[in-house]
Amino acid sequence: MSAAVPELEPLVLDGVVGHPAEFADRYRREGYWTDQTFPEMLFETIGRVPDDTALIADGRRISYAELGERVLRLAGGFRARGIGRGDRVVVQLPNVADYVPLVFALFELGAIPVLALAAHDRNEIAHFVDLAEARAYVTVESHDGTDLAALAAEIGASSPSVAHTVVLSRAGGGADLEELLAHEPLAHERRSLPSDVAFLQLSGGTTGTSKLIPHTHEGYLGSMREAVRVGGTTASSVQLVVLPMPHSFAMRSPGFLGALHVGATVVLAPDPSPDTAFALIERHRVTETALVPPLALLWLNSSLRAETDLSSLAVVRVGGAKFGVEAARRIRTELGATLQQSYGMAEGLHTFTGLDEDEETVTTRQGRPTSAADEILIVDEADRPVPPGSPGHLLTRGPATVRGYYRTPEHDATVFTEDGYYRVGDLVQQDERGYLTVVGRAKDQINRGGEKIAPEEVENHLLAHPAVHDASVVGVPDDALGERTKAYVVPRPAADPATLTLAGTRSFLRERGLAAYKLPDLVEVVEQFPSTVAGKVSKRAQRAKKD
Ligand code: AMP
Repeated sequence: MSAAVPELEPLVLDGVVGHPAEFADRYRREGYWTDQTFPEMLFETIGRVPDDTALIADGRRISYAELGERVLRLAGGFRARGIGRGDRVVVQLPNVADYVPLVFALFELGAIPVLALAAHDRNEIAHFVDLAEARAYVTVESHDGTDLAALAAEIGASSPSVAHTVVLSRAGGGADLEELLAHEPLAHERRSLPSDVAFLQLSGGTTGTSKLIPHTHEGYLGSMREAVRVGGTTASSVQLVVLPMPHSFAMRSPGFLGALHVGATVVLAPDPSPDTAFALIERHRVTETALVPPLALLWLNSSLRAETDLSSLAVVRVGGAKFGVEAARRIRTELGATLQQSYGMAEGLHTFTGLDEDEETVTTRQGRPTSAADEILIVDEADRPVPPGSPGHLLTRGPATVRGYYRTPEHDATVFTEDGYYRVGDLVQQDERGYLTVVGRAKDQINRGGEKIAPEEVENHLLAHPAVHDASVVGVPDDALGERTKAYVVPRPAADPATLTLAGTRSFLRERGLAAYKLPDLVEVVEQFPSTVAGKVSKRAQRAKKD
């Protein structure tokens, strides 16, 4: 690790609520937070295992030493463009090989990546760019039919803060990347402090668009190390990443960061289908992976299983949404792997079932908090603790969990308690051993197979439709996805309801720049919405209504 530069002062970033000093001191004293930044973590591994394979992606095999070289060249390129400590850079990439070096190049400079999903569309990206006053935007030419090169040109021309755009070709690489790589590599040294904000992660969102979550180096690396401990990832692990890399589950639970920390090999799947993933597992002797429940089902039900050698797969982590008990049981019997359930949220807390836990626990519980410093409260509507073992609202604070979102003080006041607990919005119960079971959700959010959708955002767009008088969007049960999105619309008096077809509504929303995964799966035209006794729209009744 490089020597600390004594004169580096903590980064001051407006709109960030840190942990109070007494908590920060405790987390450092107890070893949850250590004196290390993201690039220091990576370069420590590089120093230890330079010749081992860090990444396999896009048909390339990249050693740790090559990864380090690429990080420092790209850092040189970004610095030549004037990007430095504290600058925000929106990064919107699918799982391509250059994701890791690009993001670590920004970390090396102390710049702050805003990690958007490849699936995000114009509205979301424009919102992140504005909110973060991003200096640069890094993306690929196109993804899933969205012309991101055009978006980059639009943002480059119209955003007052964006000075640079970097557009990779669809499979990675391309002229912009080559230009960045042509620069002299920087020397690796400390350019940020462990207490600095390392990056901004996206929340699932319940109101409007996603919020940005300011994670520090020490907080995030701490939670990753805890996950490595309970997840059993070691230097000989081969981790297949099929979920989008900006998701916290793919990133630090233990995720690719955990793998890079221990010197394991990370294999990136361009898509999560059994076709692609099984071939990669067989070829590279993959030992662990993380899936959302619908993907786990897809893998379990695939006929390809019989034709592929998946025997190397030792641990399958499933989380992001509730995994049904019946499917959970099949992970051991049919995939021959140990199931590790995980529950967590981008805001911080994550829980895991133990690797040597009994089958009943592993298939019915969503895990225990990773660190003894994670504080859990389960409360009723009035914030009073419920009796032990009873279901209630989960509140949490701890070394992994942030104390506020980035630049949203009013929203923070509603989702963080005065003493710093985060109101998760999930209903859980906890057994006498500390294991949590997720029993429901109180927040107005749709969990579509692990992708989170804020109904309000979709409703706002629907209200702009010339034929729509009112709109209400809910999640309805779905066998494969857990939930899918249904929009109820009340037409305007003079409107022809026939214009409000599913296809018509979806293309209207798509044109307004809504990401594909947020489009309704069902649209029902109604005369009015059911209401609660208090006169509000009864989303409960709308969720329960049969087609
Ligand atoms: P995200 O911030 O996108 O990771 O979403 C976090 C939310 O996903 C949680 O608050 C839960 O509502 C849901 N979630 C995550 N993991 C699970 C799980 N294992 N079981 C049930 N819900 C989950």
